[in-house]
Amino acid sequence: MGVSQFARSISESPTMALNEQARMLREQGESIVHLGIGEPQNKAPQAAIDTAASALAGGKIKYTPTTGIPSFKKAVIRYTEENYGRTVSPKSVIVCAGAKQAIFNALWAILDPGDEVILLAPYWVSYPEMVKMCRAVPVVVTPADGTLTPSFDRIERAVTPRTRAIIVNSPNNPSGMVFSRDLVGELVRFCEERGIHAIMDDIYHKLVFDGVKAPSCYEFSTRDTNASSLIVVNGIAKTYGMTGFRIGWAIASQEIVSAMGTLQSQTTSCTSSLCQLAAQGAMLGPQDEVEGLRKSMEHNRDVIVAELAKVPGVSVIKPAGTFYCLPDFSGCFKAGIAKDSFELAMFLLSKVRVVTVPGRDFGLEGYLRLSYAGSTAEVLEGIDRIRWALDPAAPKEMRIGEKTVVRDWL
Ligand code: PMP
Repeated sequence: MGVSQFARSISESPTMALNEQARMLREQGESIVHLGIGEPQNKAPQAAIDTAASALAGGKIKYTPTTGIPSFKKAVIRYTEENYGRTVSPKSVIVCAGAKQAIFNALWAILDPGDEVILLAPYWVSYPEMVKMCRAVPVVVTPADGTLTPSFDRIERAVTPRTRAIIVNSPNNPSGMVFSRDLVGELVRFCEERGIHAIMDDIYHKLVFDGVKAPSCYEFSTRDTNASSLIVVNGIAKTYGMTGFRIGWAIASQEIVSAMGTLQSQTTSCTSSLCQLAAQGAMLGPQDEVEGLRKSMEHNRDVIVAELAKVPGVSVIKPAGTFYCLPDFSGCFKAGIAKDSFELAMFLLSKVRVVTVPGRDFGLEGYLRLSYAGSTAEVLEGIDRIRWALDPAAPKEMRIGEKTVVRDWL
């Protein structure tokens, strides 16, 4: 009673729900290994702490302009010049409460009811629900079997006269894949020619491995930001591990930024003043911690890929970025351990207390997303427990926290 039909049709973020369940189990004293949520374990960079502390002491605690504090927008513009070689006007920048809100505000600004938005599976869990919240329709394009990135042909075939946008996330959550230069180039050129919005979710663009640079949409954009249909979203959550500060931004034409600002002015007014200044401190301060974070994720990527190779019936495509991988667990369904990825995630949580996220929430059944943003020890312990749960040749008993678990399911 009281909740609208429409509100009921929107699902809760599954990563948040799993996190909550794991937190409750941990409170009950259970030994949980969290390979579920994507959150680096670092402290905020010192420059962020210092800037926020002096802003607080100096009373910089008032409302800010709706689209962001001018000095922080300047830092975003500098970041865009340094990282993408593109100069943008402050009127093309809007600061939001995380990249998440930036994506939602952008969708709200461009969508009419019934419009279609193409999502590339495996996609980030929030995209379909955000599209639905704008009364628009998510259209999912899946990759060819055994691959984790869609071909341009498949994307082109999904376009209809109602297509308003394609959301592109590379480096990708959940797969860790970095899209090829060819694919990014084809998408950007196609979208600019057709006036379809390419929403580039670049939140992981700094977290890339093996000396690879993620191809950026600006390398292929032939238009000025104001004349382009590109909407580029970024933030500080992943690059600086400052998830709880909730600072992200979008760069787009002034018309779109202005519409996003209207939404923000009538909902949140603006983003937290202190957090904008903390983000400014992080972005203008020393960048060595960014590289430290990237290196530790690359190390954990190597560890998880090597450990997963020892798990029977599981295969993984080596991620080129982020702190996720998306191993194929379909062998476990054939072995009768679970019917689908949701059942398998529940099975691993209940039997060996490892949190994972079902592939079906990312639009790709048969897979589980594993995060390696935690410590290397957690990654090793988590995969060891999964291997024990799935390997009939492993000893019958395993110590999990304070308990000895006996395997009676294989
Ligand atoms: N896009 C992707 C692909 C993400 O994985 C996340 C965070 N998990 C976000 C956007 C949201 O980032 P923020 O915390 O800045 O809202």
